[in-house]
Amino acid sequence: MVTQVRDSGRPAGLRGQLGELCHSTGLLGSVQRLRSWLRKDLRILAYHRITPLPDPDTYEFDMELISASPQGFREQMRFIKQHYRPMHLSEVAAALNAGKELPADAVVVTFDDGYYDNYQVAFPILRELGVPATFFVSTGHIDSGRPFAYDWLVHMILLSTAERLVLPEINLDIAIPPTRAERRVLAAIVLDCMKEIDALEQSAMTRRLEQLWSMPSDTAPPDCLPMTWDQIREMHAAGYEFGSHGVHHRMLSKLPQEELDYEVRHSRETLDRELGPSMRHMSYPVGGARAFDQRVIETTRGAGFELACCYISGTNPQPHINRYALYRLAVERNMGTGWFAAMLAMPSLMSYPSGSHTELAIRGEACSH
Ligand SMILES: [Zn+2]
Repeated sequence: MVTQVRDSGRPAGLRGQLGELCHSTGLLGSVQRLRSWLRKDLRILAYHRITPLPDPDTYEFDMELISASPQGFREQMRFIKQHYRPMHLSEVAAALNAGKELPADAVVVTFDDGYYDNYQVAFPILRELGVPATFFVSTGHIDSGRPFAYDWLVHMILLSTAERLVLPEINLDIAIPPTRAERRVLAAIVLDCMKEIDALEQSAMTRRLEQLWSMPSDTAPPDCLPMTWDQIREMHAAGYEFGSHGVHHRMLSKLPQEELDYEVRHSRETLDRELGPSMRHMSYPVGGARAFDQRVIETTRGAGFELACCYISGTNPQPHINRYALYRLAVERNMGTGWFAAMLAMPSLMSYPSGSHTELAIRGEACSH
């Protein structure tokens, strides 16, 4: 029995209902077989956090980073184990290097950022079910143990006691609304607007707010922290793959070349140092069309990475797979198993379009970028 998640503050909508309907009628198996006969494409799933779904009125961090509840994730992994062929990203790279075709039902499970729940929640489920996965981590955050800057910014906006949010960097000067729901909308707008500006300026803006509001990120509570190297080594020893998500989770296309080189090369060197020289996969931080470009691709290729994932929604048709801009299917917390199954069978119809999960209704009022 599939239960639609309704307490996430975001209803499943038409896609979700259609997905559940197709799943419950048993239609998806036929669709999947027909599709795999017509079209062979690699599906890569993108997750962030796996954690029990919190109450949005009391939760102090970005809800958008929660991809699934532990139970939902278990159902999804069981489903792909039964109906698809989950593969390591390195198996994909090996097949591409050898000019071999991938199975039509190949699915790769990936995680971005490196939150602690990847170890505490996702890892035991993956191991129990025997599903391989690749974790892209921002190495500077694993080194420092500090929270991810975008999540911390959301946290500050949700909890600030200030009356106004003044961010000249993005031409924003607005009264901070009283309710948590309104503050979540404001935070989504700030995140969207700031992704237009230089990445170093983004970091400086967040640091300035930390000081202004006396909310330093080194006082962060444990539920927003990254994994540790010891945890990562344990997962790696159990056969799980790790790749780079940069050093400081900066938008690579928004960096000068020297900083871009550092984010790409230093993250690889750190992974080599901690795990041995085997990991050659990258996921561009943020990952949308604004977050990487040809310069980023060339730098990634030049640093010795074999594959790179972006966060643009889609699948990767064989044999024309773009190794340095692999499309992914984002898994969102309000997806029931039916919607998830329908997304895999009919990706272009049932996946979340990129960038759909920020509410921009009052954006025009709030910033001019
Ligand atoms: Zn990320």
